[in-house]
Amino acid sequence: MPNPRVVTDNAHPAKKTASTAFVPTSVSPSRRARYKYTVRLWAVRNSRFLDWFYNRFADMFLLLHPLWNAIGYGRVERPVTFVERHVKGFLFDCRMCGQCALSSTGMSCPMNCPKQLRNGPCGGVRANGNCEVEPDMPCAWVQAWKGSRNMTKGDAILNVQKPVNQSLRETSSWLRVTAEAAAAREAAKKESRQ
Ligand code: SF4
Repeated sequence: MPNPRVVTDNAHPAKKTASTAFVPTSVSPSRRARYKYTVRLWAVRNSRFLDWFYNRFADMFLLLHPLWNAIGYGRVERPVTFVERHVKGFLFDCRMCGQCALSSTGMSCPMNCPKQLRNGPCGGVRANGNCEVEPDMPCAWVQAWKGSRNMTKGDAILNVQKPVNQSLRETSSWLRVTAEAAAAREAAKKESRQ
């Protein structure tokens, strides 16, 4: 003989879901969406300071080049990538493309664009400045333009970015930039000796 209680519950699945789902009473969906982008938007508002801080940080990383060289860039890649992913993930929602463009894009990560555009917005930006694909999300490129206006070298946003080299995904931009700067410094030294 069927259990009358089970039959009753199955006949009203919607009622059952509504009674068990957790619905925060004081937080509206739009307020939650804004919270989600709070840090990202803070970074854009403070792009000038973050750019200044990054330049100091990059100088320090370059000073440590002999240490990275002694240990081996290959060996430090993993721990540095771990730190970079978490720090930039928190601040910029970094997607670890390995070719950071933040200094040219007002501290707004272009990889947050669902179309992954690296050279400006598509034609679908909403009237409120949000993304056409994700209506709750501020367009990464509208934010990039705002952030770039605060930065001393903000016109770098006008430089054409190369297509993303997918083979560099999940690698450390910090280390690559450091290795490139160290190589350029060595080359300049050699040239001046000749
Ligand atoms: S541009 Fe690339 S490395 Fe820079 S924050 Fe965005 S995903 Fe990360």
